Amino acid sequence: MSGPEVILRVENVTKRFGGVVALNDVTLSVGRGEIVGLIGPNGSGKTTLFNCITGVYKPDRGRVFFMGRDITGLQPHEVAKLGIARTWQKVRPFRNLTVLEAVTTGALLRTDSVEEARKTAVEVLELIGLPREEWGRLGSEITLMEHKLVDLARALATGPQLLLLDEIAAGLRPHEQERLAEVIKKVWSDRGLTIVVVEHVMRFVMSLSKRVVVLHEGRVIAEGPPEEVASNPRVIEAYLGI
Ligand code: ADP
Repeated sequence: MSGPEVILRVENVTKRFGGVVALNDVTLSVGRGEIVGLIGPNGSGKTTLFNCITGVYKPDRGRVFFMGRDITGLQPHEVAKLGIARTWQKVRPFRNLTVLEAVTTGALLRTDSVEEARKTAVEVLELIGLPREEWGRLGSEITLMEHKLVDLARALATGPQLLLLDEIAAGLRPHEQERLAEVIKKVWSDRGLTIVVVEHVMRFVMSLSKRVVVLHEGRVIAEGPPEEVASNPRVIEAYLGI
């Protein structure tokens, strides 16, 4: 890939679960400052790829490089410390913590000082525009949309260079998805972040990314601008399952 510095490089990654080949020789690069969409039907390997990047799984074959450094096989907390943050497909409940406390736990990755972590949490919550009156609410008291914003805030509070969003728009209504896309764009430009967005909601990805990568049955089957990819016969076939 020419152009910007490659911040993330996945090289020939294969991951099997018993007889299932979840990722089959996947190679892709992400340039610093990009928002890349990673799409594909259910079961195509998107979450497994995030898990291989963030150290949840070790690939059976292939390597993962972050800012030129080989991070294959590192533990999740080591990967997080190097500057990769993620959100999870299922929101992580924090019933007995307040919003502010939950985001503060993210910031504790970088400091032992609770006061400093709280300051970071406040900055992040202000950036994502969650109203101050929500900050004292418990996890059990907030809506799904607020949970998504808090998840995003927790990830940002860890001070990442690269943010991986796993189906963050799932379950939201169209107007909430639009608002979330606006928040993500704001965070991206304010923090100079690089973002990979996993979705199977095509419209959400298209509103955010200039480049999408399509996975199908563990392989990259197409890559390019969203309009081009959406009209690619292989992609249409993969989505329709014919
Ligand atoms: P996607 O995120 O695109 O829906 P996944 O990465 O979750 O796809 O899954 C890819 C394939 O790997 C699927 O066939 C899934 O059943 C399988 N898979 C994922 N994680 C595991 C696991 N921990 N154990 C067994 N099979 C898994």
